[in-house]
Formats: sequence, structure tokens, C-alpha cells
Amino acid sequence: MNLRSLPDRKPFLTAALALVTLAALVAAAISAEPRAKDLFGTKKLPAVVPAQSFGFYSKGCFAGGVALPMEGPTWEVMRPSRNRRWGHPAMIALIEKLSRDAGADGWPGLLVGDVSQPRGGPMMTGHASHQIGLDADIWLTPMPKRPLSMAQRESMSATLMVDEKTHLVKDALWTPAHTRLLKRAASYPEVERILVNPGIKKELCDTVTGDRSWLRKIRPFWGHDYHFHMRIGCQPGSPGCKGQEATPADDG
Ligand SMILES: [Zn+2]
Repeated sequence: MNLRSLPDRKPFLTAALALVTLAALVAAAISAEPRAKDLFGTKKLPAVVPAQSFGFYSKGCFAGGVALPMEGPTWEVMRPSRNRRWGHPAMIALIEKLSRDAGADGWPGLLVGDVSQPRGGPMMTGHASHQIGLDADIWLTPMPKRPLSMAQRESMSATLMVDEKTHLVKDALWTPAHTRLLKRAASYPEVERILVNPGIKKELCDTVTGDRSWLRKIRPFWGHDYHFHMRIGCQPGSPGCKGQEATPADDG
């Protein structure tokens, strides 16, 4: 190395060093900007304030949520490790109420899938909605007589009610009790929509006699072949909650 050339190169080296430092700082700032789903997906507990939903079902969050207990006499939470059993208190109360009412209809108890994360928001995996504490997935499998262990609730596979080829409900699996469960869920005024696989909607349209007004709330949506999705409207005290248009008046 020619030592004499060093002083001449110093300004250049200093500038290069400054540039590299700046680039590193910018990169750090970008990577430090947290993604919403990381932010919400890692919160273990809700914010302790009055219950309030913000935004829309597929873009929002909520505060003051409560958790559905892991189990009650008439329900069990499935996939408990996901910690998605949180919701607006009205939603959680409604799941418990449905589980009791369904029992009276001959459905032995609810297997409850995802509700929301402790503060809602987007999730690391699955679901576009379920963000404001007003959506819940309920399995179309009745609660077994023997209590499920936590390990079983993680691993037990769901029953697909719809044939993947014909897109029709599997006759051997669908029972009048399934229909009664959906009718009961649709009967609550706060429930605005129930999402089911199109095959299930067709089954109901083909078989329900008498009062068909509740079919208006049953909406066909891809997936939803082992669970149904119950959505309630914005609750009082949530001025920032964006509602959804009412479903058409006919049976859809
Ligand atoms: Zn859902």
C-alpha cells in the first residue's frame, strides 16, 4: 500500500462510511416498523377498557374483549393454543347462550373454533375477518359425550360435511339437528349473517319447510364446510364500528 495516498482518499472514505451508515439506519427503521399481524398476533391479553369495536370485520380491532372459558357445560374451545377465544362481550355471551339453547334443540354442545385474538386485528394465519370481535366459527360436529382433553382439542380433525367433488352435503352426515342448530343461531336478532358452504345453503333451501325467513341470514361462502361462521352486528358503544349492509329480504 502506498501510505502517501491515504490522506487523499480520506474524504472519499468518510463519505462512503456515512453512506453505509445511513443505509443501515434506513434498513433498521424499515425492519423495525412492525407488521399489524405481528403486533396483534402476539398480544396475549386484551386492553382493559369498556368494550368497543373499531373498523370493519376484515379490517379493524377491538378493546375491552373477554375470553370464552376453555369449556363450559355445553361447549369446548377447539385449537386452544391459538388463543383465539376472545371477542366482544356480546359475542361471547351469545356463544354461551347458543350452546344452551342448542342443547334444548337436541345438539349436545358446541365445539367452538376461532373467535378473535385478544385485541382482534389481522391474524398470522387464516381468516380475513374475525378482526373486531364480532365473528365466531362453530364446528358442525356435535360435542362428544366424553370431555376432550386439551391435546385432543388440538389434534381432533373436523368432519367435512360437503363432498369435494359434487359440492353437495354428504347425506350420511347431515341431520335435522344441524338444520335446527343453524336456525337457532339465525334466530337471534343480533346475528346478521351466518356463512356456510354453498352446498349447505342448497341443502337448507331444498329441505326447510314452514318458516323460511331465517334463510335470509344464511349466506353461501366458500370453505365453511366443517364449521359455520356466525357474525353479529356492531354493538352499542362502538361508534367506530363499520356495519355491513343487511342481507336481502328473500331466502337468498
Ligand atoms: Zn370464520
